[in-house]
Amino acid sequence: MAVERTLSIIKPDATRRNLTGKIIAKFEEAGLKVVASRRLKLSQADAEAFYGVHKERPFFKDLVSFMISGPVVVQVLEGEGAIQKNRDVMGATNPANAAPGTIRKEFAESIEANSVHGSDAPETAANEIKFFFRDLDIVG
Ligand code: ADP
Ligand code: MG
Repeated sequence: MAVERTLSIIKPDATRRNLTGKIIAKFEEAGLKVVASRRLKLSQADAEAFYGVHKERPFFKDLVSFMISGPVVVQVLEGEGAIQKNRDVMGATNPANAAPGTIRKEFAESIEANSVHGSDAPETAANEIKFFFRDLDIVG
């Protein structure tokens, strides 16, 4: 399988509870390598643009408010099949449905405050990485 890169976000519910290190350990244990990382606070415009694909969904307004409620850690993860591997380590969107050992099963507070974001396909991964990082910032 090809080496891929994907975008991960450690969400405000997790930074608030000081879980950054425990979450990064899950990625590393799965063979994903952190090749870029930055802690920042999203503006409302950033969050609305990043989640633009969901703008018609009933949860959009609350999701944007949640994502700007505290710091996030944005990261590029690299590895074989990194996009799917990251989704597997994250677990299902709703923590009630997430498999044992996944980040969302262990750490998520709710379907909204679910601790992590991960790109869902090669095209979204490329676009989401570009949203936060220049090529120079990514060192494999
Ligand atoms: P995922 O993050 O697993 O790819 P989606 O792309 O469907 O999930 O949704 C983006 C984010 O929106 C979710 O991670 C979660 O924070 C929030 N979300 C999704 N569905 C709901 C919902 N039914 N109610 C509240 N928030 C939701
Ligand atoms: Mg998604």
